[in-house]
Amino acid sequence: MIGRLCIVGVGLIGGSLALALRRAGAVGEVVGTSRNEAHLRRAVELGVIDRYELASERAVEGADVVVLAVPLGAMTAVCRALRPGLGEEAVLTDVGSAKASVVASVEAAFGGLPSGFVPAHPIAGTERSGVEAAFPELFVHRRVILTPLESSSPVACQTVRGMWEQTGALVEETSVEHHDLVLAATSHLPHMLAFGLVDSLARLGDHDEIFRYAAGGFRDFTRIASSDPVMWRDVCLANREALLAMIARYQIDLRLIEEAIERSDGETLLEIFNRAKQARDGLYSEE
Ligand code: NAP
Repeated sequence: MIGRLCIVGVGLIGGSLALALRRAGAVGEVVGTSRNEAHLRRAVELGVIDRYELASERAVEGADVVVLAVPLGAMTAVCRALRPGLGEEAVLTDVGSAKASVVASVEAAFGGLPSGFVPAHPIAGTERSGVEAAFPELFVHRRVILTPLESSSPVACQTVRGMWEQTGALVEETSVEHHDLVLAATSHLPHMLAFGLVDSLARLGDHDEIFRYAAGGFRDFTRIASSDPVMWRDVCLANREALLAMIARYQIDLRLIEEAIERSDGETLLEIFNRAKQARDGLYSEE
């Protein structure tokens, strides 16, 4: 049970976490903060938070747990702003999609890593953003990855794990570095492909015609290109090295397909497609 929870950035993820914990009866009071008062007022109307403070320093006062749920590019400034109000015993965590950059933000803002800080990343989301998009079931049966640091206290780790378990999520732990490599491959690269493909087609002269004939496969493949551009700009810049490595690797493999088509080499194409189908079928055998 968390007495007072402070959500910094009451959008899709922060708002959904607050709703999930409220539904589970796992939290006493929820205080929100962000830049825009109209958004915070709406969050109160929707029952996501009990009250808000525009000054994050005030919002975190007396909070047992503080969750950073802003875009990655805002983390350093937000941490600097809230630092004076954060209690000695408070647990600090985040939901950022890349972990090394958040650790660097916290370290820069606090001049070291507080023992109450435990980085985390819920592997759940939708293409929508803002508090209106928040819903309490978002994390049910979804994975949440904790990347505890050497500096993280066992009590803080247990608090963050317990908080996510209350949302119905499956909590796992790994290192910051491993998290960022794996997420570059499974989430960040696919988003680049979707954004890149839709942008490329949208800039073709006859794109209306092309999109008119787009079928279900195109819709499935490009759904994530509707995700928030600011969030994804920040993810790219935050996980730059790992993402660049995955893009380079993917370009080599795409070139193999291109070369096979150039050679009219159906055998190689079949080999690649069969391998991919087997891997994909194995992943989602229940579909
Ligand atoms: P979101 O719906 O846009 O929410 C972000 C919130 O942060 C908004 O409520 C915004 O409120 C606030 N905010 C933005 N800049 C701020 C600043 N400079 N200072 C204070 N508040 C600020 O975004 P989200 O999808 O919840 O993403 C939040 C975090 O979750 C990101 O770090 C992202 O990497 C991570 N994440 C996202 C997903 C996903 O699929 N969406 C999944 C897992 C993790 P105001 O406009 O009122 O300031």
